[in-house]
Amino acid sequence: MTGLTKTLELKLVDPNAHKRRKLRETREAYQHALQDAFDARCTTQTEANDVVLTYDLSGYAKNALKKYVPQLTTTYNAGDLHDDHPIRFTNEGLRLDHKPENGIEWYVKIPHHEDYHLWMPAQPNPEQRDWLEALNAGDAEMGESRLFERDGTWSLHVTATRDVEERSEVSAEERTPIGVDIGEASLVTVCHRDNHGSPTAPELWAEEGKTVRQLRKTYFTATRRLQTRGSERIAESFGDDLWRQIDDVFHRVTREVVEYAESVENPVLVLEDLTDIRESMDYGEYMNRRLHGWGFAKLHGQIRYKAVEMGIPVETVNPRNTSKECHACGEVGNRPKQATFTCTNEACWMGEYQADVNGAINIADRYLSGESRSREYENDDDSAEDGGRLTAPQDSHADAETQQATRGTYAS
Ligand SMILES: [Zn+2]
Repeated sequence: MTGLTKTLELKLVDPNAHKRRKLRETREAYQHALQDAFDARCTTQTEANDVVLTYDLSGYAKNALKKYVPQLTTTYNAGDLHDDHPIRFTNEGLRLDHKPENGIEWYVKIPHHEDYHLWMPAQPNPEQRDWLEALNAGDAEMGESRLFERDGTWSLHVTATRDVEERSEVSAEERTPIGVDIGEASLVTVCHRDNHGSPTAPELWAEEGKTVRQLRKTYFTATRRLQTRGSERIAESFGDDLWRQIDDVFHRVTREVVEYAESVENPVLVLEDLTDIRESMDYGEYMNRRLHGWGFAKLHGQIRYKAVEMGIPVETVNPRNTSKECHACGEVGNRPKQATFTCTNEACWMGEYQADVNGAINIADRYLSGESRSREYENDDDSAEDGGRLTAPQDSHADAETQQATRGTYAS
């Protein structure tokens, strides 16, 4: 076991004038307290405490200052202070909330004064989705965070740590790819090929697919009805409860997916690449529905962090036509029914096949054909901005309504 630490990046989404003013107040108070403690050459936490105590700041900011100022005066021996120091908060100062039903899914609670905080929608770097899922599930620990403004945009950098297992020293070619398909009928389907190349041990989470579909349906009909009656509060808490139930199902399924991988020798989990899916959003409503309805990104994020915890590598492949091609001959076939894939190549032995399993094998095979890529080595600095597009949904109308209702109660 080793501790893996990362700085998570979140951009605050268009704070309104009131919240911008509050953020600036916090920054000014912080800056003054920092300058004061620095000028007083505080070299211990106790000394710094006496100075920052009187300022109108949250305990998280004061505690961060107590730790930070002695570092400046003793370790770095800094001469002058710049006036653009980020505001630091000690661990657990921030809180994270996830509302997958909203256009902007993530919210952060930012400490302001002693008993006062701001809940704000935030756009995370989508490459760090796995970390957010881990934090949200309590499987990663939050460390210090820093809040700052650059060119009018407020951002947060949050450090997070989680325990991971060392990966075994096995080359990519020696690994057994396990295809992970996320779908309509079956929430998740996994399959791999045995030593002779035959598809083996397919596992489908079809019941869970039904459960989640039902919960989602209940959510959209019930919240709409409650909202037309003006019961926004009830609608929100009811909605939160349903989404928590969905998340519980997701966590159980993703844990079982990783357990499946652990039962295979030298496994590598193969997922479809979300970036590619995003770029080809218009290539079908089917994909759209999968993305939005099934929390595609959420499931991927959970699988990723749980796999890394167990030392199991995760790779992604191009998703194009994984559900339409025959895994035996590569011909693009059709799906007369949701659960059935039919190969139209007359020379192919296959005929009919379970559609989700066919998809999972195609995904696994793309790893072997060299189409895979390891996301960890990609550098995608600007990706935080297009994260919002992930959730551009079919249900956008319903979402806009719930978002309005939800945002209301998050106003400070
Ligand atoms: Zn075929």
